[in-house]
Amino acid sequence: MFNYAGIIVNNESIMVDKVFTYGIPEGLVNHVNIGSKVKVPFGKGNKKIDGYVIELYENASDNIQRLKYIDSIVSANILFGEKQVKLIKFMKERYLCSYLDCIRVMLPSGILKNMASKLEQRLYTAKAPEGNLYKKNYVNIYQAVKHNEGLYNKNRLSNEFGFSLSSINTLIKHQILIVKQQKIDRVSDKIYERYEARKLNNNQKIVYDSICNGREDKYLIHGITGSGKTEIYLQLVEKNLKENKDCIVLVPEISLTPQMLERFKGRFGNNISVFHSRMSEGERYDEWMRVKEGRTKLAIGARSAIFLPFNNLGLIILDEEHDGSYKSESNPKYDCREVAEFVAGNNQAKVVYGTATPSMETYYRAKKGEVRLLSINSRADNAKLPEVTVVDMRDELISNNRSIFSRELHEDIRNNIEQGNQIILFLNRRGFSPFVSCRSCGFVYRCRQCDISLTYHREDNMLHCHYCGYKERPKNTCPKCGSKYIKYFGIGTEKVEEAVKKYFPGVKTLRMDMDTTRGKDSYINIYEAFKKGEAQVLIGTQMVSKGLDFPNVTLVGILAADLTLNLPDYKSAERTFQLITQVSGRAGRSSKEGKVVVQTYSPEHYSIVSSAHSNYEEFYNEEIGIRKSMEYIPFNDIINVNLNSLNEKLLIDTIRKVYDDLQILFQHDKNVHILGPCPCSISKIKELYRWQIILKGKFDIDTKQRIKKVVYDNLKFVYNDIKLNLDVNPNTLI
Ligand code: ADP
Ligand code: ZN
Ligand code: ZN
Repeated sequence: MFNYAGIIVNNESIMVDKVFTYGIPEGLVNHVNIGSKVKVPFGKGNKKIDGYVIELYENASDNIQRLKYIDSIVSANILFGEKQVKLIKFMKERYLCSYLDCIRVMLPSGILKNMASKLEQRLYTAKAPEGNLYKKNYVNIYQAVKHNEGLYNKNRLSNEFGFSLSSINTLIKHQILIVKQQKIDRVSDKIYERYEARKLNNNQKIVYDSICNGREDKYLIHGITGSGKTEIYLQLVEKNLKENKDCIVLVPEISLTPQMLERFKGRFGNNISVFHSRMSEGERYDEWMRVKEGRTKLAIGARSAIFLPFNNLGLIILDEEHDGSYKSESNPKYDCREVAEFVAGNNQAKVVYGTATPSMETYYRAKKGEVRLLSINSRADNAKLPEVTVVDMRDELISNNRSIFSRELHEDIRNNIEQGNQIILFLNRRGFSPFVSCRSCGFVYRCRQCDISLTYHREDNMLHCHYCGYKERPKNTCPKCGSKYIKYFGIGTEKVEEAVKKYFPGVKTLRMDMDTTRGKDSYINIYEAFKKGEAQVLIGTQMVSKGLDFPNVTLVGILAADLTLNLPDYKSAERTFQLITQVSGRAGRSSKEGKVVVQTYSPEHYSIVSSAHSNYEEFYNEEIGIRKSMEYIPFNDIINVNLNSLNEKLLIDTIRKVYDDLQILFQHDKNVHILGPCPCSISKIKELYRWQIILKGKFDIDTKQRIKKVVYDNLKFVYNDIKLNLDVNPNTLI
């Protein structure tokens, strides 16, 4: 019998981030489970707060003084089980986050808040109208309800069929119709056209069979864009569902495209749980409950869908495995790939990664045999890969071409427009101009809260900070010297759109970036409009690079490949290669041949050369050598100790102390490198100064805990003034 429980209390402070032992009062013994949410007295005042049970014990260790008892059980729901407790512990150790961070990322906020299911009054039939109620009108109502029992409430029945509410009420009064309270799922019921299975071609078949029959538990499908990876996923899912196994399909947030849903819902029907961050709290609650209660066996979603409480997982797919969004940038700063492998291991499920441009880490592991590598080098529909041309923008300057289009791209755009084809223009920056400055005195508009220049947006005629959202209206004259020579430098997507309209008058354009996709359905609307051919040119950021399949696109222009390349970050070459390859993959699908024009000032850079060759292996070999010599991932772990504060002096003093203690900790370990402390590349965001220390080395669990302790010990007395960001293997060091 369990008389004691190990409990995580719902309190933010990192100082109480541990498992507290509570007694279980007699009346609650056998009612308190792992995963129960309970009220417990906490702190000196014994204030009653929520807690989550993650352990149960028969005996408590003797050294507990003043044992406290659980007060009550908050909800009957068991929120998680033993497997999830293992996962919580795994994440806490690996990502140096708190227990509470893990619980919060695993459970939707609606569940944590004890939100309820949505109830609605729905109509059912009890008996058929007879006697003086046997009238045409009443019989029609009766039949409409009979056909769709439980689907209608009074208003919807009346609106859709034109029955009067008073007739419906009469039938209810005579108990021909009855009203029942019913749980309603707050999920989309949009019906998709059937997406028929295709017969797998030889390449696909080999991959499919290797995964089905293989004894390995991790696979990487390295298939060029258009090689038919999605069809393989669909058939792997189908096989698992037939064997009564549950499946999770993960995609990067922004490629949870209508197209992906079209394919999955079109194949498996609507009984799929879809999970992403744009959903309301209620929708997430319902999806989670649907999974928990076993009402759905397949989920497709962004990163956090990995935590859905399936009972019998057989397969986890991560599409676009290389995508940065698989790494969380808020606490817990988990890597979804690692979590997926852990969850799969817990459930004896298989993990399948798919991408045209594997991350350095995953490809390195595949080469070492930790992940089984399966490659496809041809497109499923036998379309050719697009021809990639690299244009040296320095030559354009020499030839006095100051337009944002090189002569070659300009020519290609004109030709493709004339031929009635579609074009995608990619630029990784939104707004109109990223830099507004005075030519007379050098003044630059900067954010008041961040160390960053403001971007001019034509749409609202305002200067925007892309970090904190601060806005101000630009003046006609320089705020500093009063001169009229205010100039707008650089380009963003708005300016590209303007240039297209200027050089190719009459051509219809669409723009897809964060500014045009704020509305709930705006992304889908732009996607569908372009697919239907309502515009010939689509201009966009990252958003256009992922998983979109437009058969009429024959030209892709990458306007400034250097934007990604020149970021001061150890992954910038990798990202540049990925981006060019992914965006290129949008051209020349189906029967039409495609062309890609890459504009750059660094045409000789290996990431650009290899992407132009469509040669991943070539890129990988170059990059892995650099990673090795720099002792970066995948050869080492990186831990970023990033501190933020309004108080610059306190921040610098504190981080120096952290540094000194880390030096002592690793004084005998030559394999650990401690870089810093120094200000981050963006030294201030939202008025918070930012400094960091980077640790490079191989860190086991114990070492990580020691690092964490050093940091925490130094923060103990300044905890209210300094914000800590500990990130293990961060995506970026900016
Ligand atoms: P990927 O996910 O690898 O980029 P897709 O799954 O989008 O590739 O496939 C590219 C195109 O090839 C799609 O239009 C798809 O319908 C088509 N396709 C995939 N598999 C087959 C097949 N076995 N036979 C015919 N067409 C296929
Ligand atoms: Zn000036
Ligand atoms: Zn700002």
